[in-house]
Parts: sequence; C-alpha cells; structure tokens
Amino acid sequence: MRKYGAFGGAGGFDPRTAGTGGFDFSQFGKTFRAEDLGGFGPFADLFSSIFGGEDLFSRARGERKSRPRRGNDLAIRLSVSFDEAIAGAGKIIRMSKPVACGVCGGTGDEPGSRQKICRQCGGRGTVTFAQGAFSIARPCPKCLGKGVIPGKTCARCGGSGRVKEKKTIKVKIPAGVEDGSKIRLRGMGNPGTNGGPSGDLIITVNTGKHQQFQRKGSDIYSEVEISYPRAVLGTKIAVKTLTKTVNLNVPPGTKHGTLLRLKGMGLSVDGEQGHQFIEIHIGVPIDVTPEQKELLEKFERTLQ
Ligand SMILES: [Zn+2]
Ligand SMILES: [Zn+2]
Repeated sequence: MRKYGAFGGAGGFDPRTAGTGGFDFSQFGKTFRAEDLGGFGPFADLFSSIFGGEDLFSRARGERKSRPRRGNDLAIRLSVSFDEAIAGAGKIIRMSKPVACGVCGGTGDEPGSRQKICRQCGGRGTVTFAQGAFSIARPCPKCLGKGVIPGKTCARCGGSGRVKEKKTIKVKIPAGVEDGSKIRLRGMGNPGTNGGPSGDLIITVNTGKHQQFQRKGSDIYSEVEISYPRAVLGTKIAVKTLTKTVNLNVPPGTKHGTLLRLKGMGLSVDGEQGHQFIEIHIGVPIDVTPEQKELLEKFERTLQ
C-alpha cells in the first residue's frame, strides 16, 4: 500500500481507504483544484495546512477583494470621575483611527492604474505543483487567484486601502453609569472593505472613586462615626448625601455597623430609585481625661 507521508500531519494517510465522501481518488495523475477538496472531512484540514488555511481558499475565490466585509470593532477605555458617573457627562475623545483611504476609495489600487496580467500564473489564477502521484492546482500566491495584479498601488495608503485619521468623537456618558460599563458607538470602528459597514467603537467606562461615597448599583454607601453615649442614647446627626446635607435620626441603642437608610437618596438608574445607606461606626477615644475616666468607671460599675 502506498503511503502519502508528504501530507504533513496525516502521517501515512492513504486516500484510497479513507472516507472521502464519494470523491474519486482512483484517477491518480489528475489535476485537482484545491477548492474541490475543501469540505471532505479529513481532507479539509489536510489541504488547509498545505495551502495555508481557509483564508487562502476564500482569497482564491476572489472573496477577499470583492465581498463586502464589516470592519473590526475598536475598543478603548475612558475614565470618568465619580461625579461624572453619577450625573452623566459629555466627553470628547480624540483618537487616531483607521478610515477608508480617500484617494483609492479603500481598494488599495492607484485610481486609473491599469491592471496587469499576473506573470506568476500567466493570468490563470492558479499554479500547479506535484504532490505524490498527482499534481494539484493551488491559488496563485502572487495575485491571490485573480489572475491580474494592480498596475500601481495607491501612493496615499500604500495599498492597504486605509489611512489613519485624527478623529474627535463626542460621547454621552449616561447618568448613573457603572464602573466597567460598555458603550457601543455603531459604525465608529474600523472601516469595512468593499463597501462593507464599519465596525463599532466599544468604550469601556472606568469610574473614579469618591472620598466619602461608595456605590453599588443605584445605592450609595457612606460611613459616619458617633460616640458611645450617643449610640446608647440616640441622636440626630448631619450627613451628606449626593446633593445636600440632611439630618439623620440615630435611634437609641444603635450598634456599631448598623446601616441606616435614607430613602430615595441614591441614584435613579433605569427607572430604579436607589437609597443611601449610612453605616454607623462607634468611636472609641484613645485618650480620656481623669474626669472622663472616673465617669466611665462609675458607669461600668452600674452595669454589674
Ligand atoms: Zn489608497
Ligand atoms: Zn497569479
């Protein structure tokens, strides 16, 4: 039995015994087109590895140049302050991004330049090479299977079809945006090819921290310290909310770590009204005067 070790990873693959889905390999010596072999189970991989992958097949069919393709998405990060995240903000992003070349219209070919017959394949678009007992036609690597090459590449973009341009993009940060939120600006990504649509610009928002406030969704958290006697007896304290200062009632017997709620004092996000939670901390003085010491000892004795 003849072995075809030359087929790379196939390791002694014998096409006559493989499940080829009806493909007739008996006529050795015939010229097969690479595309004909695609999609035959094990052969698809096999030939992909020989010809450099599927991309080359699609190039060979002329898709790369002619089929409209959507541009890639672009991703950037944008930092906003805590206050901007709460209230919303208009931000201006200045970035250099690829756009379709205005000179060649994105084709990469110098306008008006005449196409030339590819010398490597003589215009056939394929080149043949011997592989084992048969010869195989593969897409011409020079013209990518088209049989012609552009007479001149576009001088402006060097043939890539795109140039970088400085862009100023206005983006509206919605009020209540959370850290890590993504904003998608449709059509602001990389340009498409052959009339395909542009990709999107995806902005990941990073929100800054605040000295006093922490945020969880639409709720705001802050801390306040009160003395032990006030925690025991109850008190009224002034606390800051996002917009003003309000008086908060601390009921008698409030424990350390208690969360007191200021109803509706959080953010309004997606129609949900958040609250502000005040975490009560009970301060313990480090230095006490002799008088305070005496009073505390007196108090302690009453507890026994
Ligand atoms: Zn160009
Ligand atoms: Zn060619």
